Amino acid sequence: MTDKPHQLRRPLQRRLTSQTRAAAFALSGGMCSFPNCEWSTNPPDPAILEVAHIQGLMPGSPRYNEAASINLDNVIVLCASHHEIVDRHPDRYTTSWLTAARDKHRHEVASRLERGFSPLGPEPAGIENPLSVALHRWSTESDVSSEEHWQQFFARFPVCLAAVLQGRAYELLSKCYVGGKSWNNTGGSVLDFLAIHSTNVACIEIKAPTAPLLGSQYRGNTYLPSRDLLGGWLQVLGSRQTLLQSAAQLNARAEPGARVTITDPQCFLIIGNLIEESFDETQTASFELYRRSLRDVTVVTFDEVFSGLEMLRNAIEGI
Ligand SMILES: [Zn+2]
Repeated sequence: MTDKPHQLRRPLQRRLTSQTRAAAFALSGGMCSFPNCEWSTNPPDPAILEVAHIQGLMPGSPRYNEAASINLDNVIVLCASHHEIVDRHPDRYTTSWLTAARDKHRHEVASRLERGFSPLGPEPAGIENPLSVALHRWSTESDVSSEEHWQQFFARFPVCLAAVLQGRAYELLSKCYVGGKSWNNTGGSVLDFLAIHSTNVACIEIKAPTAPLLGSQYRGNTYLPSRDLLGGWLQVLGSRQTLLQSAAQLNARAEPGARVTITDPQCFLIIGNLIEESFDETQTASFELYRRSLRDVTVVTFDEVFSGLEMLRNAIEGI
């Protein structure tokens, strides 16, 4: 492997406009377009993705065409490894091969987006109210143990978090990186949601409803909190700490309209399912004593989130 393709690629990439670059990333879903790449179904850290030219613009570059220009039709988003591979073997990865792979990937991304990015497929037919859709999905998905699933779920149905946030009107940023370069850019520790209110913010950490709430028994009539509960509690407090430390820097870099006021942010941890746990009295007492003693972090279980929503839905529909 010589350095030649690098030397040729860099000046060309600089000529990409930021709009074309952003549009290419959006159409690819922030994923590599190479078939079956490990990053073709999961968005990686954006730093490993590159916008590659399908037809080269400079003589000697892979798939050179003197009539080529830089636009959305002539670029493909690839991870760094696949970018190297396609440029090293332009005879195998021809213009038509790359265009077909790129279009297939964009099509798959578009259909995933249409389904609300749900790993479990389309929304149930015939239900339109987002509250009812969320409740219906909870009734069939409450045993899903993937945290990623629930993060996507709340991103899709922010109304469910509004109930947790005590009815205040919050704007939600999903998968926010606190301590990063900007309010929603990469580079810091990941927080599942940052809810922004006109006068404050709330940090929200989402675990799975299947995560246990209690651990082992400790001396007769007390139980220890579970590893997941302790971990989630430390995670959200750590994110809050970083957020407080970096708030001044983030605000200094943000546009005036995008600045955020932070005063003693409240933290929320959504975890577990009390109905499924069916605790005895001793276990319930241990769990309640523990969660009430957690200063600054409100622990809410998934069944509590959805029973609150059900009451809200019934009130709205007059049931
Ligand atoms: Zn790849």
